[in-house]
This record gives sequence, C-alpha cells and structure tokens, in this order.
Amino acid sequence: MPAPRAHKIRLNPTPEQEQYLRQACGVARFCFNWGLSEWKRQYEAGEKSSSYRLKKQFNATKREQFPWSYDVTKCAADTGFRNLDAAFKNFFRRCKSGEAKKGYPNFKSKKQSRQSFRMDGSRIKIDGRRLKLERLDTPINMTETLRFDGTIKSVTISEDAGHWYAAINVAVETPEHECQQKSVGVDLGIKTLAVLSNGAQFENQKLLRLELRKVKRLSRELSRRQQGSGRWQRTKRELAKLHRRVADRRLDYQHKMTTEITQTYQVVGIEDLNVSGMLRNHRLALSIADVGFGEIRRQLEYKCAWFGSKLMVVDRFFPSSRLCSYCGTINGELTLSDRTWICDCGAVHDRDLNAARNIETEALRTLAGVGSRTGKTRVERVSDS
Ligand SMILES: [Zn+2]
Repeated sequence: MPAPRAHKIRLNPTPEQEQYLRQACGVARFCFNWGLSEWKRQYEAGEKSSSYRLKKQFNATKREQFPWSYDVTKCAADTGFRNLDAAFKNFFRRCKSGEAKKGYPNFKSKKQSRQSFRMDGSRIKIDGRRLKLERLDTPINMTETLRFDGTIKSVTISEDAGHWYAAINVAVETPEHECQQKSVGVDLGIKTLAVLSNGAQFENQKLLRLELRKVKRLSRELSRRQQGSGRWQRTKRELAKLHRRVADRRLDYQHKMTTEITQTYQVVGIEDLNVSGMLRNHRLALSIADVGFGEIRRQLEYKCAWFGSKLMVVDRFFPSSRLCSYCGTINGELTLSDRTWICDCGAVHDRDLNAARNIETEALRTLAGVGSRTGKTRVERVSDS
C-alpha cells in the first residue's frame, strides 16, 4: 500500500528562475483576490458562488483579460482558487458551529501572506538535484536529492526568510520486506552513537565536532562585528550555512543508521532516554544535542512501522548498564566513567555492549509476556502481521 511522505528541500534558483517563482506566487495570490472580490460581487447580486464556478469563469476569460497568467504553470491559478475554496469552507464551518470568530476570508497582501504555490506531480520532473517546472526553461538546482522513491503527487514551492523551498509529496510503495534477523538491542551513547547487542557499532561522527569548532569561531567573530554592518551580515550568512551543513550531515547519518537497523531486525529494543533531563546537565548538553537522540527515536518509530518491525521501548529505570547480561547480578558500584567492568560471576563487560544485550533481553521478555523487570516496557508500534 502506498504511504504518503514529504521531503522539504531548499532551492538555489537563479535570478531568472526566482522571477518565475515570484510570478507564480503572484498569480496564485491574484486569483485568490480576484475570486474573493467576484464572490462578494455575485453574493451582493443575489447569486450563489463557488470557487469551482469562479475558476471556470477565470479560465474562460483569461486569454483576453489575464494573458500574463500563461507565463507560468496553470497550477499557480489553481492554487489561488483552491486556497479560496479552503478559506470559505473554513468560514462556513465556523458559522455552522457557532464560533465567535467566523474568519471571513481576507484579501491577501504581497507583504503579509506567505508566498507559495502548488504544482501537480505530473507537471514537474525531478532528476537528481534538478527540479524542472512546467513553463520554466531551465531546471532549478536543489540543495539535496529527494529522499524517497515513488510517485510524486505534488510540490509546494514557498519562500521563507529569503530562501525558496520545495516540499515534495511522494506516494511511497511500502516495501515487501523480510527481516533476516530476529532481534537487537540498541544502546545509544555519546562516544559511540550506537552499540548493538551483536557487537556492531555506529561511530559518532567526529567530523561534526570539527565543524562545531568552526561554529564557535564564527559565533565569536559575529559577536565582535558591528551589528548590521556588511561584515556582520557576511559572517551571519556563513554561520547559517555552516549550521545547515552540520544539521544535514547529522540527519543523513542518522537516516542511514535507522534504516539499516529497522530493515535488518524484526524486534528493536531501545531505552526510553530522558532527553530533556539529560539536556539540563550542561556538560552533556552539547554532545546530546549533537547526537540527536530524539530524532533517532522518531526515525526508528516510523521506520519500524514501514518495515513491519516492532520497536520496544525499555523503561528508563531499567538498569541496562548495571545489570550483568550473563548472571543478572546488579553492579551497584558502577559509575559513568567505567567503560569496562568485571562481574562477580567472572564476566568481563564492555559497558555499552552489555547494556545493548540487556536491552535486547528485556525487549524480548516483555514481548513474550514474561513480564519486564520494571513492568513498564512497552511496544511502541506493532505491525499488522
Ligand atoms: Zn555476572
């Protein structure tokens, strides 16, 4: 069954392309405003109006009256009428439910309203980083490639804080997928991003650290410059670019990791980390924000649902690190700095690997209905199968 996915990508339009985008937004806004004034006029004349009728009326006369609308995709005009339809539906719904704020549609101004238009998937083409729009001769450069394979349903192009974005909606065929292996425990950490219960590791990228040093340097530079000056503007832009690059690389790596884990294992156990609590510890904060535990959790959740795996979230009070994964004894003396430890039973433990094994066992125990050690482990997503 196809599932809808969206990926928002920043665009790098040339000045000519930007001109086209602005014009398309303008046509969308014009049609909204034109439709609204016609609606009012027809209403006062005692006629019943609809956005569908107005669109037909517009299309019948556009060759004579609005020839400039042919400069851009016809989807721009459609956007205006679709927005008008939504605005009136909203208004009627509020009237019906007797809300105090009825919200009769307002005219859209160039300055105050969001600049955007939507195109049907059939009227665009994506090839790698090139986005080709109907009636625009050259393809627009995208800053990254589309994350999903599938049928492109629509693209909404909008401007935000001086940048242009394309939000691409894709219908993704959910893959028929057989997981090769049954279960895994995942211990998320700071030194190593993740250690799996089978011993596999995902390195936390040190490169991010290196770039963070650059972030610090630029931030210092920014604070020394006179606010609003040319140099200040330049440093600010540079800093924003660097932030974005760091964020992109991190996200890319996280996606690789979570895809691999969810594709390979039927049951994935993770710890319910108290991220906000950890962020309050300032020394840890930078590292954690850097790693992005919350994002990893989010990705595991939806990808487990895609691939039909089960995500088991182990209670945060489960003593994953202190429990010996061989004999079950709890080591009460273990501190955060102990990377390896020896249990009374003789087992030598790598801290993270031992934790990952315990998380796996705990996840399986709960799944089998044996009852968890703390009684709070739960299934996050259960597939239909
Ligand atoms: Zn032991």
